Amino acid sequence: MGLLIEGARLVDPDIDICGDILFGENIEEIARKIPRSGHNVVDGSGMVLMPAFIDLHAHFRDPGFPEKEDLESGARAALAGGYTAVNLMANTNPICDNADVYGYVMEKAETLDLIHIEQVVAVTKGFDGATTEHWDELPQRVRFLSDDGNGIQSSELMYRVMRKATERGLGLMLHEEDSGLSKIDYRLAEDVMTLRDVYLAEHSGCRVHFSHVSTEASIEAVRRAKRRVSNITCEVTPHHISMADSDYRVNPPIRTRRDAAALIDAILDGTVDAIATDHAPHSDEDKRRGAPGMIGLETAFSTCYEVLVQSGIISLQRLVELMSSNPARILGLNKGYLKKGMDADAVLVDLEAKRVVTGESLHSKSSNTPLLGRELPAAIVGTIRAGKLLYRNEGRL
Ligand SMILES: [Zn+2]
Repeated sequence: MGLLIEGARLVDPDIDICGDILFGENIEEIARKIPRSGHNVVDGSGMVLMPAFIDLHAHFRDPGFPEKEDLESGARAALAGGYTAVNLMANTNPICDNADVYGYVMEKAETLDLIHIEQVVAVTKGFDGATTEHWDELPQRVRFLSDDGNGIQSSELMYRVMRKATERGLGLMLHEEDSGLSKIDYRLAEDVMTLRDVYLAEHSGCRVHFSHVSTEASIEAVRRAKRRVSNITCEVTPHHISMADSDYRVNPPIRTRRDAAALIDAILDGTVDAIATDHAPHSDEDKRRGAPGMIGLETAFSTCYEVLVQSGIISLQRLVELMSSNPARILGLNKGYLKKGMDADAVLVDLEAKRVVTGESLHSKSSNTPLLGRELPAAIVGTIRAGKLLYRNEGRL
């Protein structure tokens, strides 16, 4: 017996059709009409069904600060936002720079069995910006390394890291910030590091993914590099394209309208591969003390739909590519398309709905977002992972 969604608008980068879709172990069938024969049936009429979203960049605070977000609340926030796979950064406490912390996260995620978790491991031991010996004890499953939040200051070390990562078939996710320049000029801090690492990535052939690119000059550097080589990808966040000039504290900072427009141009011309949330839960107390970051899993789709699709800039198909198909490709997952044999992960959305973001309506343990009180378009009605409806919007499904 499978899960049959009837009469939905089925959208992925290759199709935009009306029909039925059957989920079992994998996606079993897509057709105009599928016989009901004993399946669980959900009426999808008036709704859009897309491959579930995949977040390349999120922070859950587990281990370390489970009162802000643990693997369970993070997974529930992800499901409520239409995500079934999340790539977690390494700045937990303790930092994920060893097989024990990595194993703790992966085992807990498997026991919870809510979403697919990928865990990034620190490039340098304890984010010390110097040592990489811990690479020798990493499990085979590790795909990406990152010192997100800190970046790697030494050019010599970055050169060595890229060569070593290339030899071992590992990729890097880079938070670009020169910490000395940050004290003087946040923009230069990102642009100088992005330029350096674009050159080093081209030189080494290392698989490099640029995280949360936020400035006009940085995205232009990535654009030029992508014309020359194929080992570079990048992401932008919903807040950097939608909240220009806001002073809500995030890192990298929210930039100007001109930067946001440049990022959107880069979405249009294919420079941007993915939209990632940089979901960063903080307590109210942390935010009062100036901690940078905002949560994003539960508002990302609505924000991107409003800014990019409702405004007529890109199609819904292109948004699926940015939020699901391309992240799946970057992480090497069998997800991101509505095709027979792909993982049975999908999200059902009512594009006509509106909702007001409130602290109580969020599944995250934190509510640090400037969107509280804002009305956003579109509602996630249900999220399917591995053929099971793991999230349903009460009252709507
Ligand atoms: Zn970062």
